[in-house]
Amino acid sequence: MGRQNVPRDQWLDLGYECPHCGEQLDESMVYSWRPMPEDPKILLLYCPNCGDRVQINHI
Ligand SMILES: [Zn+2]
Repeated sequence: MGRQNVPRDQWLDLGYECPHCGEQLDESMVYSWRPMPEDPKILLLYCPNCGDRVQINHI
């Protein structure tokens, strides 16, 4: 599971491609904005297509 650095504005505007299947992910698929309190920039999504968990480090 890769963790990508993506500027927050960029991924909110353009969406984000699932690294596993290429499905386009957007804000509505965010599972948790702050899954880890000690790492508040990380964002957790579940891909609706392949079901994989995707982490974005929105910088
Ligand atoms: Zn996927």
